[in-house]
Amino acid sequence: MSKLQALKNFRFPNVFILILIVFISCALLICINFFTIKILSANRAYVNGESHYSKGQKDASRHLITYLFTKNHTQWKLFLEELKVPQGDGIARITLLKAGDNKVARNGFLIGRNHEDDLDDLIWLFENFKNVSFLSKAIKEWGEGDQLIFDLFVIGQQINAKIEHNILTSTDQKKHLKQISSISDQLTINQRNFSNTLGEGTRKIKDLLIITNIFFILVIICSVCLYYSIMVKRLLVSKKETEVKNENLIIVNRELDRFVYSASHDLRSPITSLKGLIEITALEDDAQQVRNYLEMMHQSLERQDQFISDIIDYSKNKRKEIILEPVSLKELCNEAILQLMHIENANRIKFTQELLVDQIESDGLRLKIIINNLLSNAIKYADCSKQEMFITIRTYLSEGLNKIEVTDNGIGIHDDHKANIFDMYFGTNKNKGSGLGLYIVKEAVENIKGDISVFSESSVGSKFIVTIPNSYAT
Ligand code: ADP
Repeated sequence: MSKLQALKNFRFPNVFILILIVFISCALLICINFFTIKILSANRAYVNGESHYSKGQKDASRHLITYLFTKNHTQWKLFLEELKVPQGDGIARITLLKAGDNKVARNGFLIGRNHEDDLDDLIWLFENFKNVSFLSKAIKEWGEGDQLIFDLFVIGQQINAKIEHNILTSTDQKKHLKQISSISDQLTINQRNFSNTLGEGTRKIKDLLIITNIFFILVIICSVCLYYSIMVKRLLVSKKETEVKNENLIIVNRELDRFVYSASHDLRSPITSLKGLIEITALEDDAQQVRNYLEMMHQSLERQDQFISDIIDYSKNKRKEIILEPVSLKELCNEAILQLMHIENANRIKFTQELLVDQIESDGLRLKIIINNLLSNAIKYADCSKQEMFITIRTYLSEGLNKIEVTDNGIGIHDDHKANIFDMYFGTNKNKGSGLGLYIVKEAVENIKGDISVFSESSVGSKFIVTIPNSYAT
């Protein structure tokens, strides 16, 4: 198998699939990065919110303690004011857990001193990821924190009630201080756990993002590399094809030049000889000599006729498409013999047919050209010195291939000529033919993907074997 054929037979994966893979990977990469950035940004907003929550709670505790010991009402107001921060966040949490009105949640977050631009991200993350492990843990800590804030509020109310009714004793002060400190300590643990859980989630998301980014970038790089290598291979194949076509074109052009030159020469020579014969016939008085000249004119015209018919065969063989059809080899042989019987000495030759294969599926025109030319050569190059001249046509099936064999006991082919008999315009006797016959036969055989071989011995005879494929299924 030729290199070009091997390259042609190589099946390329569909490049559109690769383009689709690249497209989908890019789209996924963009989506994943977009959502990851959104998640990380929301996480940051929660951590930020937690610091406001914690500061609010701590300030509120500080004001409550001051109020407890100074009974300054401003401190009570400041306590309530600062406590609103964690309480606002608590309202947002409860609303979102109940899938309630987002406006209430937004307002809660705003009271919790979260930045307005972060509100959408805070709500989006809560709504979509509240069941994801890291966030659900954080929400649990947050809920416990809110409960402690409520406890702080209740203690505040008790302290305020006692101060207002002037029944706050120093024992109460000690007791409440202890309670506030204990709540503060617990809240600190809750707040730390909340931040840690969010931080852990953020780190996991970051790792996941790096892995998915690497994965999709590798998919894109591999697809692009594969795409380019396929394209380069395709370019190489088409370059090779163009080179082969160019080479063929050069050969065809050269052949055409030779053909035109020789055809014009060969077409003119019988006319020139006819003109000369007519001129000398006009001056001739001897009737026998005139008959000789007429016979020579006839032969000259015969050659002209043969040459034109060869040119027509050549042209048909070159231009006409291969048409696979049922062909009867028997009919083709009989027709050819009938047509060729006018050739000199043809009636002295004994024709034998051993047709084991008759009906085949092939191109009728090419088979006709092949059989006609082989038989006409067998007749033209018959050895008239032999007592019995014969031509045998055999058809048979061998190793799954159809064979047509034309054997004669003619003059045979000289060893020096064997290599050239299939060349264009090669002929050993210009009076007998144009030198195109076997050239056309070879081209016709190649057209139907067959093969031709010759066995010949000078003075003994020749055998031409044509091999034709039995089936053209690819
Ligand atoms: P041509 O028109 O000269 O017959 P071909 O191409 O048909 O041209 O044949 C080329 C040459 O091959 C012939 O000139 C002849 O020398 C030789 N040749 C072909 N067929 C036979 C044959 N059956 N017996 C002997 N010689 C042959």
